[in-house]
Amino acid sequence: MSRLLIIGCGGVASVAIAKCCQNSDVFDEICIASRTVSKCEAVAAKWQPLTKTKITTAAVDAEDVPALTKLINDYKPDAVLNVALPYQDLTIMDACLAAGVHYIDTANYEPEDTDDPEWRKIYEKRCKDLGFSAYFDYSWQWAYEDKFKNAGLTALLGTGFDPGVTSVFAAYAKKHYFDTIDTIDILDCNGGDHGYAFATNFNPEINLREVSAPGSYMENGKWVEVPAMSIKREYDFPQVGMKDMYLLHHEEIEALGRNMPEVKRIRFFMTFGQSYLDHMRCLEDVGMLSTTPIKFEGRDIVPIQFLKALLPDPATLGPRTKGKTNIGCIFTGKKDGKEKKIFIYNVCDHEECYKEVGSQAISYTTGVPAMIGAMMVVTGKWQKPGVFTTDEFDPDPYMEALNKWGLPWVVDENPVLVD
Ligand code: NDP
Repeated sequence: MSRLLIIGCGGVASVAIAKCCQNSDVFDEICIASRTVSKCEAVAAKWQPLTKTKITTAAVDAEDVPALTKLINDYKPDAVLNVALPYQDLTIMDACLAAGVHYIDTANYEPEDTDDPEWRKIYEKRCKDLGFSAYFDYSWQWAYEDKFKNAGLTALLGTGFDPGVTSVFAAYAKKHYFDTIDTIDILDCNGGDHGYAFATNFNPEINLREVSAPGSYMENGKWVEVPAMSIKREYDFPQVGMKDMYLLHHEEIEALGRNMPEVKRIRFFMTFGQSYLDHMRCLEDVGMLSTTPIKFEGRDIVPIQFLKALLPDPATLGPRTKGKTNIGCIFTGKKDGKEKKIFIYNVCDHEECYKEVGSQAISYTTGVPAMIGAMMVVTGKWQKPGVFTTDEFDPDPYMEALNKWGLPWVVDENPVLVD
């Protein structure tokens, strides 16, 4: 029995909340706290009649550490699940430390204002030292290691699908299939169609920042950076079919690169249709993806935030989206001196997700692992003092939970490799 404080009430949170409500034996009480409390109240009203979990709500600005600390102290949760935005990661971690509770999230820290000179100085040094230029990286949260360790608290970072499940797949492959892993290719395929010419499947600002940035991968412990969308492959995804996919920078490359240094190459590919890429290129060319405020009729506006207001809300894509996602990892390496390769993946159907929880598969594939990560921490299965990613614990209970809570996985022992 435990009490969870959930921060944020968007697309991913809605699924995590629905799943906590299905899992009342573990989560007998949840509090949904977000900036816009009316959204929390609407979600609570939807699920409360269907669950034994007691749901309460609260308004909070997660960037206001004293206010958030007070909320945590008043509610006394066993852990805080951050499904707000990556911008709030550090302030929520600070509040968890101040109140003495465990912390869980699905995406690593990135600043909202990438023109902040203080942040920029550190960022530019990191770009030079490490060789990748993404705005997000783990250094900010790994810097909390001693604080969480000394407080005897667990911070579990990145328990969505990717990152999250993909890193659990890596730990599972290492534990059960390989003596050494040589390469990891993480493949994220969305074969869904929502019928709009252009829309993003999760928060547009975070999504567009990610995919318009240079791609990068890790080879022999070093980052190799390439222009955005410059490495393209085709792959025939089980249950989805042939898709174009592009190499992107992604969080788990950094964590796996650190935690599994023997792996010689780690890459991440995501599928995109031509229409998505054409729209994105055009928006980028005209400056609509910029995070730098411009003056418009006397007001400061941030182009990418204005674009977000124009695009369909990802939460509304659920009823329109048909098709499946296939997300997983291809591993190559050696077992008992022999070459070995496996593909561990999950296939998720957009329409079935919508039927079950009222969300499309992108929110579903993130919200279910968010609940599972929180469950691992509050039940003590994954608890140790410090700051960890999902590859740093025993993968078995998490893998079992994926099968039980809606994301069953498959191991293909003879997959086609990506060249
Ligand atoms: P949404 O934009 O749908 O929801 C974000 C929520 O956070 C909203 O409810 C918003 O409130 C709330 N919020 C924003 N700022 C604050 C604040 N200062 N204080 C309190 N609440 C705040 O995002 P998604 O649900 O699409 O994404 C949630 C997270 O999941 C993101 O961090 C994203 O990067 C991550 N993600 C991870 C994936 C993975 O596989 N690991 C995949 C997809 C997403 P309001 O309604 O007022 O705006």
